[in-house]
Amino acid sequence: MASDLLRLTVLGSATPYASVDNPCSGYLVSSGGTRVWMDAGSGTLAQLQRHVRLDEVDAIWISHLHADHSADLLTAYYAALYADIQLAAPIPLYGPPGLADRLAHFLTNSPTRSPVESAFAVHELADGHQARVGALTLTSRAVAHGIPAFAVRIEAEGRSLVYSGDTAPCPNLTRLAEGCDVLLCEAESAQAPAEGEQVHHTPEDTGETAGGARVGRLIVTHVGRFLTPQQAVARASARFDGPVDYAAPGATFSIG
Ligand SMILES: [Zn+2]
Repeated sequence: MASDLLRLTVLGSATPYASVDNPCSGYLVSSGGTRVWMDAGSGTLAQLQRHVRLDEVDAIWISHLHADHSADLLTAYYAALYADIQLAAPIPLYGPPGLADRLAHFLTNSPTRSPVESAFAVHELADGHQARVGALTLTSRAVAHGIPAFAVRIEAEGRSLVYSGDTAPCPNLTRLAEGCDVLLCEAESAQAPAEGEQVHHTPEDTGETAGGARVGRLIVTHVGRFLTPQQAVARASARFDGPVDYAAPGATFSIG
C-alpha cells in the first residue's frame, strides 16, 4: 500500500540561509501513519504544514545546532504553546547534547527548562543512540562536523534511509549507510579546504561515501552557494555508479 512506503519529502535544502524558493535543511520522513520532522532549518516549519500539522508530528530529530538545521525549533515552540496547536503531549525531540539547555536559554532567558519541556520531550543523542518512533527505527551516529553532530539511519519494513546531517567524510557515516536503499548526503563544499579541518563533503566525497557504503541510490542535498545543484549531481555521479538525484525543495522520494 502506497501509504506504507518509507517516504522522504524535502521541506528545504538551502545553506547557510534560505533562498526565496528554498528553505534551509528540513525533511519529512513518513511511513504509514508515522511522521518524523528531520532537521528544522529556517523556513521548514512553513513547508511542513503543506503535509502535516505540528501536532501530528510523532518526533523531531535534529542533526546539530547550526541555525540552518535547527532555527525553526524556536518558531515551533511558539506554535506548540501559544497558538492554535493543541499538543496531546510534548513532542519527542531528539538532538545533540546541550539541546535542552540551549533552547531554555534562548526561549526563557534563564536555564529554567520547564516551558521548553511543555513543548518538547528532549532526548539528547549519543553515538549509537536508537529510538523507536511508531513504525520507524532511528539509529544515530556521531559524525565529523567540528561540533556535536549526528547522522541517522531510519528504517521501516525493511527499507532504509540514511541522512548525513552535516559532516566531512567519516567512517561512522559510511558504516551507518552500509547497504541502505537511499543515502541523503550533503555536498556543501565546492572544494576541500586548503588548510584547517574539513567539516563538509565535496560532491566527489558524496559520491565516494555512497560508493563506499554500497547504497542503492544517492540524493545530494545541502549544496553550498558556490555550486549549482546540477554541478553537484554531475560531480557526485562521476564517483558513484548508482542513480543520483538532487534534494529539490518540495520533492518526495519513495524509498525501497
Ligand atoms: Zn552545519
